[in-house]
Amino acid sequence: MTDFIPFFNLEIGEDEIAEVVDSLRAGWVTTGPKVNKFEKDFAEFIGGGVEAIAVNSATSGLHLALEAVGVGQGDEVITVSYTFTATAEVIRYLDAKPVFVDVDPETYCIDVAAIEDAITPKTKAIIPVHFGGLSADMGSLIELAKRHNLHVVEDAAHALPTTYDGQLIGTLDTDATVFSFYSNKTMTTGEGGMLVTRNPALSKRVRMMRLHGISKDVFNRFNSKAPAWYYEILAPGFKYNMTDIAACLGIHQLKKVRAFHEHRTRIAEAYDAKLADLPLRLPPKPRKGEQHSWHLYVICLAEGLRIGRDEFIQKMFEMGIGCSVHYIPLHLQPYWRETYGLSEKMFPNSQRIYDGCVSLPIYPIMTMENVQRVTSTIQQLLDDTRN
Ligand SMILES: *Cc1c(COP(=O)(O)O)cnc(C)c1O
Repeated sequence: MTDFIPFFNLEIGEDEIAEVVDSLRAGWVTTGPKVNKFEKDFAEFIGGGVEAIAVNSATSGLHLALEAVGVGQGDEVITVSYTFTATAEVIRYLDAKPVFVDVDPETYCIDVAAIEDAITPKTKAIIPVHFGGLSADMGSLIELAKRHNLHVVEDAAHALPTTYDGQLIGTLDTDATVFSFYSNKTMTTGEGGMLVTRNPALSKRVRMMRLHGISKDVFNRFNSKAPAWYYEILAPGFKYNMTDIAACLGIHQLKKVRAFHEHRTRIAEAYDAKLADLPLRLPPKPRKGEQHSWHLYVICLAEGLRIGRDEFIQKMFEMGIGCSVHYIPLHLQPYWRETYGLSEKMFPNSQRIYDGCVSLPIYPIMTMENVQRVTSTIQQLLDDTRN
């Protein structure tokens, strides 16, 4: 039996390990110099004069961003059903109401025309998700948001490095953009996230709220002219700071993020070429000259095949290949469905994508031989079950 090809596998190098050991020996394990360095490096990577604020997850970052733009009780925030629950749960943290819209069948990202229809006098913000690492239609979304005076917080958990209009996601004209460094994202800190913004008032609020509403973080406090023991609480904040241990991973993962991306792109191109003639839909492509991060490579099985999605994934597993599903849309999840009266009929595009979608393995340490095995296994499986 050949080796099992998992859906995902990490690439952690000796550099990351040595950096963590350095922090352990220095005795600084919580927010400190490594977080400071990681934030600077990240802001430089994104460019465009952004500030980067490290947090302990993208979920925390999204929560902080919505809090900072003033989302509160009774407000409405528009987002997609076709996403991970974190995108919507942060709206509930603030006692606001998520208003779900469908995705565009051509991009699997938020349908901007549907946003227009969902706007009410209570609408305060929009959270687009750059699904799989392909940018949402940000030009028309930002134009719409400005016209209606709405905030935009980008869920960029999949979108490092993704471009829109030749600009890296993170540099667009929105309030804030939040990246995830969860273990299986395009780079990792174990758990972690980064909020980037060009709005100084927003970054000040986020920096304060990520650590208990203390006016300055620990590192700055110990280096300021005020006595080391002095601090002030300006709001009931959260405990969302990133640790130096996590930042150690981030510093070195970030250096490799271009190389990781090149390899993911090679895999995506190989999948595109090898799967082109099979009865399935390949993932939406970026427009010419744009960059897809290829966090996910999602195929959709054609309707009317003898093999359904669930059986396909099971058979792939039996043949030594791990696949997954992104996502079970929120309109099918008991909490969201029951609380907001959602149904399949309200999200036909999301539902159709979900019914056939399979995420294939795609990650930096996956070999081209592995890719070949994935495509030949799919071919064999679909040949066996055709007619
Ligand atoms: C992973 C993910 C998140 C949450 O990221 P964490 O860092 O795990 O909090 C949010 N939105 C989407 C679309 C994600 O895939």
